[in-house]
This record gives sequence, C-alpha cells and structure tokens, in this order.
Amino acid sequence: MSRYEFTCPECGQEIEVNESMREATLSHGCPVCGADVSEAAFAAKQQTN
Ligand SMILES: [Zn+2]
Repeated sequence: MSRYEFTCPECGQEIEVNESMREATLSHGCPVCGADVSEAAFAAKQQTN
C-alpha cells in the first residue's frame, strides 16, 4: 500500500499516512486542526520493498 507524508498547510503537523488515511484526510480535513487540505499537502514516500 502506498504511503504518503502529510504536512498540514494550516498547523504544520506532519503525519505519515496510508492510502485510506489520505482519502479520509482529504474528505474530513486535518486530523489535528480540522483545516481543509488538498492533494498538494501529500508527498508520496519511496517504497523500500
Ligand atoms: Zn492541521
């Protein structure tokens, strides 16, 4: 499963998320501050396996 590094543009919180968490965050906003986030807030992480 793909992993992403989420960085909130509002509060600056960095969270490593998987695909389903990414979808949930896009739908519901930052889990820390609740700000709306766009796909630009996610950076795909390199797969090591
Ligand atoms: Zn936030």
